[in-house]
Amino acid sequence: MTDALHILKVALDVPLDRVFDYRTDKPNTQIGQYVVVPFGARKMIGVVVGISDTTAIESKKLKSIIRLDPEVIFDEQSFKLFQFCSQYYHYPLGQTILSAVPSRLKKINTKAMAKKYLYRLTPKAIELGVDQLPPRQTTLKRIVMALIDATLLDEASLRSMSSAWKKSIETLDEMGWIEKEEITLDDKVYIQAPIPSLNDEQKKAFDEISKTNKTFAAWLLYGITGSGKTEVYIRLIEEALKKEHAQVLVLVPEINLTPQLESRFRARFEKYMLVTLHSHLTDNERLTHWRLAKEGQAQIVIGTRLSIFTPMPHLSLIIIDEEHDASFKQQEGLRYHARDVAIFRAKSENIPIVMGTATPSLETWFNATKTKDAKKFGFLKLTSRAVLDSTLPEIKCIDISKSTVTKGFSPYLVEAIRDRLNKKEQSLIFINRRGFAPVLLCSSCQWTGRCHRCSSRLVVHLNQKRLRCHHCGHDEKMPLQCPSCGNTDLYPTGLGTQRVEETIKEFFPEARILRVDRDSTKTKEALNDLFLKMKNREIDILIGTQMLSKGHDFPYLSLVGVLDTDQALYSSDFRASERLFSQLMQVSGRAGRAKTKGEVYIQTAFPNHPIFEALKTHDYEHFANELLKERELAELSPFAFLVLLKGEAHQLTHVMQFLNDAMINAQNLSTHVTVYNPVRPMMERLKGMERAQLVLQASSRVALQKLLDEWVPYLRENKLGQKVKWVVDVDPLEF
Ligand code: ADP
Ligand code: ZN
Ligand code: ZN
Repeated sequence: MTDALHILKVALDVPLDRVFDYRTDKPNTQIGQYVVVPFGARKMIGVVVGISDTTAIESKKLKSIIRLDPEVIFDEQSFKLFQFCSQYYHYPLGQTILSAVPSRLKKINTKAMAKKYLYRLTPKAIELGVDQLPPRQTTLKRIVMALIDATLLDEASLRSMSSAWKKSIETLDEMGWIEKEEITLDDKVYIQAPIPSLNDEQKKAFDEISKTNKTFAAWLLYGITGSGKTEVYIRLIEEALKKEHAQVLVLVPEINLTPQLESRFRARFEKYMLVTLHSHLTDNERLTHWRLAKEGQAQIVIGTRLSIFTPMPHLSLIIIDEEHDASFKQQEGLRYHARDVAIFRAKSENIPIVMGTATPSLETWFNATKTKDAKKFGFLKLTSRAVLDSTLPEIKCIDISKSTVTKGFSPYLVEAIRDRLNKKEQSLIFINRRGFAPVLLCSSCQWTGRCHRCSSRLVVHLNQKRLRCHHCGHDEKMPLQCPSCGNTDLYPTGLGTQRVEETIKEFFPEARILRVDRDSTKTKEALNDLFLKMKNREIDILIGTQMLSKGHDFPYLSLVGVLDTDQALYSSDFRASERLFSQLMQVSGRAGRAKTKGEVYIQTAFPNHPIFEALKTHDYEHFANELLKERELAELSPFAFLVLLKGEAHQLTHVMQFLNDAMINAQNLSTHVTVYNPVRPMMERLKGMERAQLVLQASSRVALQKLLDEWVPYLRENKLGQKVKWVVDVDPLEF
């Protein structure tokens, strides 16, 4: 009789949907431990997902693990979550797990936790104020202003403000302006802001949700910006944390996770350990925070989409803020939707989940208001702004088909801006970025600059005199004459932020203008800067894209001008008007949040479009219900479930062959699923690759999943897969 074998089933980061057997001589290995194993000629990092005493592999061929990491990186609950994601999104288990744990771990590094500090100003600093700082020290100034604002900041927030933050902190330390505190379990350092008592609607929401305290229930908390949703979250968290050891997870879109939000939570939860998880942390910080959560020490975790995978042994409540936000969907690798994964997790751990938003996704709206299925969502409403005497902005459409428009601006909008300048109030000019970047056009032959690698037009960057492809990054000099006809009269069309800025400068040479777009604000640092400048009234007119539409209060902003949105009204993407509505609703929420009355001017050639009617009356509900009717007729989400198969290759024939083959196979697999023909997407070519895609649609999620269970392995076996790069996107958001 031979000794019992210890066989480890190891999941690896390889695109194969199977696990691999390895031998170990360590009898106490557990599921969830990292290992290093030989794989072909390489060494690879994997994770133990099963332990057995048998294997189908001949003992001569059975290899041994090279190294075992002592830390167990996930528990049974997380493992369930990974298995669910792997099955539902049809993505290999090993790749699923390895894309859901912090990257530092993959390098098998178990350094002790780094010490962490929080910083705040000394009383002396507060007394002296920013004006006492040396004049040109902008970083110092910025940090001090942020500290005045947030009271306490951690290193991650400081780093996001400036890469030179360390030096500034040293300087401030030498000046006796700053104190630091080590983060410990019981730091009690936050200054309490006054706690409002809940209004009737908030109280009702709180009571209803609290009733389901101990079991699974999904809630939609629907309330306009400023209606006090966050206050309700805070009360629910307080309630949940009354239970010993309890932990709470709060998911937010990346852009909303600001030092302000963090410090608001810290102030209210001074007795608890709160950690954040997001992409602005260093690997080390992320790992530390993640471990604090995994070990049950951190009671509150605030994070962006990936944090839904954080192991939390005593998770008692999940909150998702801005439920509708598209950033919850991962667009590469494991294409999960954090909201949907969160609902699964809440169900599986039998805890409540609360989703808050002013403009629910239609899927959530449907689940909360249209089904009688008790397993779906509970529905709670906050109908007015929580702060008394703050009102909703007035929304007006300017019919640009009936008015003379100068360089994109109607005279009404120009007058409204002038009026704000006179009153020393601020204006925001909002451009819906998608499809509105300016391209170079020849006035004589209509030639436009196109990218030779993508099917996109090149975007004009006037300041640098360059043409750039926003998809692949290709960059070239702006031609002085038309390459096609030789004409020298080339001009940029369309409204880009840069052109709008130039125009505003012409109209208002005396105004202080700031343009914010992806080019000018790559970093959180720049964004923070902007918020401070707005607050200090160093800006009169702000020009920007959707990045400005959420997250922040601008107390002196009283006018929002929306330049051109009409393309989105007639887009081929069935979600375009849903997105436009929520974007305009959010950007409107920027105007008049404090005591200044706000106005929103929308320039459009279709002022009677239902979307604007709904906006004017702030009537999301009516709009959503109308959209739902359309979706039902068209058999689209949420009335149908969709899957997108996308392929790309150097040669179009290869992609088409692959997709046709996939289509025929899918048609044979199920009669309950509609399989559409392969088509070219809007962006037919990208980075030199020819692209095509096909859609599967079914009214039954189960039928669709059943098909995928056979179809995806079939695709993996397809020999053309060597020439064609393909992905399956379950519940796709973008087509
Ligand atoms: P939301 O998350 O819906 O945007 P918040 O919870 O941030 O709303 O509330 C908006 C503002 O109203 C905050 O300044 C908050 O402190 C305040 N607030 C919330 N609830 C109340 C209340 N019941 N009474 C007075 N002020 C409140
Ligand atoms: Zn020409
Ligand atoms: Zn390109």
